[in-house]
Amino acid sequence: MSTIFKRIIDREIPADIVYEDDTVLAFLDIHPVRKGHTLVIPKAECVNIFDAKPEVLGHMMIVAQKVANALMEATEAKGVNIHMNNGHDAGQDVPHAHLHVIPRFKRGEVFQVPEHETYEDGESVLFAEKIKSVLTQ
Ligand code: AMP
Repeated sequence: MSTIFKRIIDREIPADIVYEDDTVLAFLDIHPVRKGHTLVIPKAECVNIFDAKPEVLGHMMIVAQKVANALMEATEAKGVNIHMNNGHDAGQDVPHAHLHVIPRFKRGEVFQVPEHETYEDGESVLFAEKIKSVLTQ
């Protein structure tokens, strides 16, 4: 099923495009966290990190770096956040992979993140072991 981002790629609806190549498109988020907030998306449709091709993800990050550098100069940002929501429960609303590149101007204006948790004694080792065993399968 095509998303609103596919319609932007196909130029069926307008967007403020800042960068384009054969693989990705970058355009301003319509509802910016801070002005200049840019989305970097692959042209070939995929939902998120779980089905994206590794080389496409890598290229998205390369372009996010270019955009981040441009935002530092163009918006006089003091820093940049890059994030990606993957899956409904992780806050993903548009099911077409995208990196958020957000200029930041002042520390303290943090994103709303869930409250941090604390590991019980020895628990972090178990988490690390479980993750490592999946990574090395
Ligand atoms: P996410 O919650 O990670 O799926 O983020 C989706 C982002 O897409 C939100 O920040 C929206 O503001 C943005 N968005 C939705 N529709 C458009 C659009 N037509 N043009 C630009 N950005 C959009």
